[in-house]
Amino acid sequence: MIENLVKKTVWEFKPYQVENIPCRIKLDAMENPYPLPESLMKKIVEGIEKIKINRYPDSSASKFKGIVSSQVGVLADNIIVGNGSDELIQLILTAFGECGDRVLFPVPTFSMYGIIARSLSLVPEGVPLIPPFLKSPSFPPLKKGDAGGLKGGWGDWELPLDKFLTEIERIKPKVIFISYPNNPTGNCFSKEGILKILEMSECIVVIDEAYYDFSRKTFLPPPKSPTIKEGGWEGRKNLIILRTLSKIGMAGLRVGYLMADREICRELNKVRLPYNSNAVSQEIAGIILENRFEIQRQIDTIVSERKRLITCLKQIPDVIPFPSETNFILFKTAKDSKEVFDKLLSNGILVRNFGDDIYLKDFLRVTVGTREENDEFMRVIKLVDTEK
Ligand code: PMP
Repeated sequence: MIENLVKKTVWEFKPYQVENIPCRIKLDAMENPYPLPESLMKKIVEGIEKIKINRYPDSSASKFKGIVSSQVGVLADNIIVGNGSDELIQLILTAFGECGDRVLFPVPTFSMYGIIARSLSLVPEGVPLIPPFLKSPSFPPLKKGDAGGLKGGWGDWELPLDKFLTEIERIKPKVIFISYPNNPTGNCFSKEGILKILEMSECIVVIDEAYYDFSRKTFLPPPKSPTIKEGGWEGRKNLIILRTLSKIGMAGLRVGYLMADREICRELNKVRLPYNSNAVSQEIAGIILENRFEIQRQIDTIVSERKRLITCLKQIPDVIPFPSETNFILFKTAKDSKEVFDKLLSNGILVRNFGDDIYLKDFLRVTVGTREENDEFMRVIKLVDTEK
């Protein structure tokens, strides 16, 4: 019965599964492992006390946008706040995609681009990233003993630019998504390549900078002058920059924002639900950003822990970690990834297993945790590696 009522595209697609797996050390979802500093907690409680919960929130999130504006150097009119950047992806596709339009992105990448596109009756199109190791005769499968020899020779997941540009010409997408750095591979694609894509494309190009705080690399047009924070959107009328606060400690708040030319923001605002961003999240996110230095210390620690973790993983004979400019590391082991995942979980450590994913068979992804959590992860992964 429901099958006859629901949209065909919805009936057919696989939902994004967010499983609640109990664990001791949670390293699966790119969250900041550190709680908010005590001093900030006090300010937040004071801030929340002032919120009028009986009133609707500020529809344009002006106070929060003002804070972002002064920190990022973009006018408030060029910013839209969302209930996480997930919602903004949905907003962009709702405004710019007609039924049957194509949405282009490299794969593997953040799965919500494709899921949301499909739910809106758009057609997702992926251009596979082909890392050099796939051409290696010893892959697949990676046998025990291979990894040591391949270390350093695997390269990272660069965007096949010519193929991507050809696809733009061929399928004429309405929207392009580029995760920069890319989730789950962890690398930033070549800047020159992305500039070429921007130059070639007449459609909307979304550069998703969800991990910007770890990479510090951006396509945001520089401010014109310190006083007029207009940004140079003139040559970038079709560019949207997406950011989120989820990775730096506010995943539970659901706050993301996008920055784009005023005309894009005007159109997006027509389809944005008026109260998409709630008062509590706006207030707390504003307080945290105003006290950014407290969070910055945590971010700096995560970045140095990531470097340490990669160095440690490289020393394990049959584990290959990939370079990362994020708060997570993609890695492959010579063993079946399910076996590695289960062993970690039986020790209370939850990571992400890509299992039989066509692009990531037997790959796993670990989020950088606290020093103690990372040590524990390393201890167990070493055990798995030595087991026959
Ligand atoms: N973009 C990318 C590349 C991501 O990895 C994620 C989260 N996994 C998001 C967007 C969504 O983040 P948010 O929590 O703001 O919805």
